[in-house]
Amino acid sequence: RAKETGRGRAEYYRKEMDAEREERNKLEIDLRIAIERRELTVLYQPVVEAGTWRLVGLEALCRWDRPGYGYVSPDVFIPIAESTGLIDQLGLFVLHRACETIAAWPELKLAVNISPGQFRDPAFAVHVGSVFRKTGTKPSRVTLEMTEGYFIQNPERARGALAKLRQLGVKIALDDFGAGFSSVGYLRQFGFDRMKIDKSLVHALAEGSRAVDMLHATVSLARSLDIPVTAEGVETKDQAVALKLSGCDELQGYLFGKPMTAQEVDALYRKRSEGEAGAA
Ligand code: C2E
Ligand code: MG
Ligand code: MG
Ligand code: MG
Repeated sequence: RAKETGRGRAEYYRKEMDAEREERNKLEIDLRIAIERRELTVLYQPVVEAGTWRLVGLEALCRWDRPGYGYVSPDVFIPIAESTGLIDQLGLFVLHRACETIAAWPELKLAVNISPGQFRDPAFAVHVGSVFRKTGTKPSRVTLEMTEGYFIQNPERARGALAKLRQLGVKIALDDFGAGFSSVGYLRQFGFDRMKIDKSLVHALAEGSRAVDMLHATVSLARSLDIPVTAEGVETKDQAVALKLSGCDELQGYLFGKPMTAQEVDALYRKRSEGEAGAA
C-alpha cells in the first residue's frame, strides 16, 4: 500500500514536470514568433539628475504582450531567451529600436540592458557598431548595462568582450549592484563607467540606520573609484533626498516616472525644453 502511494506520488510529480516543460516549450515558441514578427515593444524609463530632478536619460526596457496570455515579465522571458539563444536577436532588436527612437531627443542619454549570453556571439560588438551606424547614433550617448554574474564567472572573457565594446565608444554600467555578492575587487578591474544601485538596497532605507550606512558605504566605494552612481527603484521623496545626500548623481524610479511609451517621453521632453526656455 505504501508502495502504491509512493508510485502515485512519483507519477504526480512526473506529470507536473511534464506540464511545466510543455508550458516552457510553448512559451519559447511564442517568444520566437514574437521576435520574428517584431511584436516585442520597448518602453523607456526616465533617469533624472539627483540634485535637480531634471530628465537626463532613459533606460530601454523590453515588453512582451503574449497573445492569449497578456503581459509577461522580462524576469520570465529574458532567462528563456538566454537559455534558447533567442537573446541575440532580442537584444539587437531592443538596441536598434531604442537607438531609432532616441534620435528624437538629442539631449538624452540611453541605457540598454545586455545579457551575458549575447557575448557568446564573437561578432556581438560588430553588430552593436552596425546598429549605431544604421541608426546614426553617437556611441558615447549609449550605456550598456550588465549585471555582475558574468564578470565574476568569466573574468577573462568579460575583459575581452568589454574591450571590443569600449573601442566603439559605448559606455558600460554595472547593473543591480548590492543585489548579489557584489565583490569589490572586480569593480576596480573592469573600470565601469557607472554603477547602478539595486532597488533592494534603496527600498531597505526605510528600515533604518544600518541600511543608510550600507548605502553610504556603497556610494563612497564607487566614488573612491571615480564611478558615478545611479540609484534605481526610487519611489519616495525621502529616498530621493537620502540618495542625493549620500552622493548618487542620478536617480531612477516610479517617483520620476514608470517605464513609458515614446509618445509619453515626448511630452516629458517638451516640458523639459520649455523649462529651459523659461529659465533663460
Ligand atoms: P533592470 O535593468 O534592473 O531594470 C530595472 C527594473 O526595475 C525594471 O523592471 C523597472 O521597471 C523596475 N523599476 C523601475 N523603477 C522602479 C520602482 O520605483 N520600483 C520598483 N519596484 N521597480 C522599479 P522590468 O522592466 O520588469 O525589467 C526587469 C529586468 O529585466 C531588468 O532589470 C533587466 O535586467 C531585464 N530586462 C528588461 N528589458 C531587457 C532587455 O531588453 N534586455 C535584457 N537583456 N534584459 C532586459
Ligand atoms: Mg538595467
Ligand atoms: Mg537594475
Ligand atoms: Mg535587474
